[in-house]
Amino acid sequence: MTTTRGFLAQVHHAFDRAAALTGHDPTLLAQIRACNSVYYVSFPIRRDDGRFEVVHAWRAEHSHHRQPTKGGIRYSMAVNEDEVVALAALMTFKCALMDVPFGGAKGGIKIARHQYSDRELERITRRYTFEMVRKDFLGPGVDVPAPDFGTGAREMAWIADTYMSLKSGDLNGIACVTGKPVTQGGINGRLEATGRGVYFGIREACSVAEDMKALGLSPGVEGKRVVVQGLGNVGYHAAKFLQEGGAVLVGLAEYEGAIHSPKGLDLEKVVQHRAETGSILGFPGARDIKKTARALELDCDILIPAALERQITEENAPKIKARIVAEGANGPTTAEADAILRERGVLVLPDMYLNAGGVTVSYFEWIKNISHIRFGRMQRRFEQGAYARLLHAVEDLAGKKFSAEEIQRLARGATEIDLVGSGLEETMVVAYHGLREVWRRNGNNIDQRTAALVLAIDKIAAAYEELGIFP
Ligand code: NAD
Repeated sequence: MTTTRGFLAQVHHAFDRAAALTGHDPTLLAQIRACNSVYYVSFPIRRDDGRFEVVHAWRAEHSHHRQPTKGGIRYSMAVNEDEVVALAALMTFKCALMDVPFGGAKGGIKIARHQYSDRELERITRRYTFEMVRKDFLGPGVDVPAPDFGTGAREMAWIADTYMSLKSGDLNGIACVTGKPVTQGGINGRLEATGRGVYFGIREACSVAEDMKALGLSPGVEGKRVVVQGLGNVGYHAAKFLQEGGAVLVGLAEYEGAIHSPKGLDLEKVVQHRAETGSILGFPGARDIKKTARALELDCDILIPAALERQITEENAPKIKARIVAEGANGPTTAEADAILRERGVLVLPDMYLNAGGVTVSYFEWIKNISHIRFGRMQRRFEQGAYARLLHAVEDLAGKKFSAEEIQRLARGATEIDLVGSGLEETMVVAYHGLREVWRRNGNNIDQRTAALVLAIDKIAAAYEELGIFP
């Protein structure tokens, strides 16, 4: 049997399951489900060797119940309208679930990224930005992209620069895109935010002893055996924070193959090996798995698909041994596979919750940009002074002096990265327990994806009802 549903149909299927549990008016639900606008554009670019090529690109704005809309831009040959609309819808639900006040959007350029030089990628990115500005699909109060598969801080800097060249008087222009380099209005902690959020989400799920018992696992992240698919931004950082939290990385998969070691793999050594040899295969002490997708079936406690969508299908879902599937990527589990995993009692931590760390910190970056000030700049020294005064009062009471090092360590004001980490942790922890409550309230009859969607739909429905219809 093969997977029949496309990605968008898969998102709609999940939406419909959840919508049926909400009791909202069917027309309101149809409005929430539909994508508000999609812009397709094609444009020519000049290759370095003088040839011309036509590039196809999209931007979908799924919901304008909150503005701006927000969502990444990906560079991949798999990009098409179905995919960007599906991903934009996921962004809407993700933002609502996490109380990030944006509508959902997504963009994509259909290119085989590695076949282009840096100069060519810059030309493509700047032309795409120009096309989006021209149609009012980009701007700090309109639609704010971020990195996604195949893009990073460098592309975001090109987008910001192009936007500001076209809109030179826009005081908030730098907030037209997030995930920028810190030196270009970015925020400390954005790079690792999604992977760090994946870690916080897994940690929260594993902290509930009752849920772990139902899975036959002990509480806590420590000692849990983890397999990660994709060592890009999300996968690498999720693996890093999990390893630091005491988990054991027993399998790592990249597009060229996968490696397996029940004793555990040292992430930094694997990354170094890949940088030196061009592949994760052949890592000393590990077993090579030539067919990389097989890594998903390895014996482990937690499986983290963090590469692409539709990796766990009805073909491999029955063979998955993990008790927890933690969706780092967007849409890695097909609807058919989801049903199989549910049947088999596997806990799926859904993408729309688990990988929301990126958009959460993007929101912080956007706030930083429109406030034109770094987080912590006003209060850091003040807090430091207040803590020092408290410590001196303790010294007077205790009749004992702290050393200069102790004062320095304890009387510390929060820096930007401290505040970003704290805001991210707060968001992931609060959202998990809200989501779990809905899940449990339904007596575990629904999965966490459905619970997350029920919560998101309720919030969006409330916004639409309050706003009314224009005109
Ligand atoms: P990335 O380009 O940095 O990393 C993707 C990695 O997956 C690459 O290392 C690539 O080589 C690897 N890969 C590709 N095909 C593979 C395969 N078949 N098997 C194993 N590995 C494979 O992208 P990213 O930003 O880490 O995004 C990964 C996923 O996470 C995407 O689904 C994206 O939508 C989602 N996501 C990203 C962010 C973010 O902040 N970057 C936020 C939320 C969700």
